[in-house]
Amino acid sequence: MSPRGFDNVPERGSSSFIPTIRLRDNGESCRLRFLTDYDDFFWERFHRRMKGREFQGFFVCENSAFNKPCAACSAGDKSIVLIHAWVYESVHDYTEPQEDTKAIKEGRRTVYRKTVNEPKLFRISVAHKGSIGLRIEKVGTLLEHDFDWVRSGKRGDVNTSYTLDFGEKLSEEDKEEMVKIAASLPSLEDAVLGKVTSLDTETSTTGYRKNYSVVSVSVDEDDEEVPF
Ligand SMILES: [Zn+2]
Repeated sequence: MSPRGFDNVPERGSSSFIPTIRLRDNGESCRLRFLTDYDDFFWERFHRRMKGREFQGFFVCENSAFNKPCAACSAGDKSIVLIHAWVYESVHDYTEPQEDTKAIKEGRRTVYRKTVNEPKLFRISVAHKGSIGLRIEKVGTLLEHDFDWVRSGKRGDVNTSYTLDFGEKLSEEDKEEMVKIAASLPSLEDAVLGKVTSLDTETSTTGYRKNYSVVSVSVDEDDEEVPF
């Protein structure tokens, strides 16, 4: 059991949620390494939590996940399939300057790069399965390369698409580091279904972020749009 005393009450909007890879704007991208190979991806059905027309995040379909009556399904809401994996995000390239970003000239454009170096939850809707499927066919495993995950589509665009581009092959040392980080994470299923409430872990001795704590809920309260 994780400590549930007052000192451990999660702060809203801080690191008290499992951090999720999120690209919000056209051309925004991140460099990542998969910590979960495609055979171990975890999918489940979710509903959208809406407040009027405002999207407030996803919550799991209890019917699909726990074989229990689901109020959302009963009310006629259609669930969607979300696919999940653990990834390690190295850097995030924004299209506009953000706090702690550094301008990098890249061909004809400038991106604003933030060093992240943190494990995160990777979540896509089934509609984007294709962009990963093609890569799996080419490499056979997702665990041996850096990848760039790129969004095409402006904020709020309904036709957003994503591409997964190959980066460098990982060195043996990096691969070992990723295996260690993956082993320090909670079960993917528990994280996705909100069973994991906190995590304190030492992931590495070589400069990767040592401590992070997360509390999972099935809603991302800071999402301002439907991300798919
Ligand atoms: Zn449901």
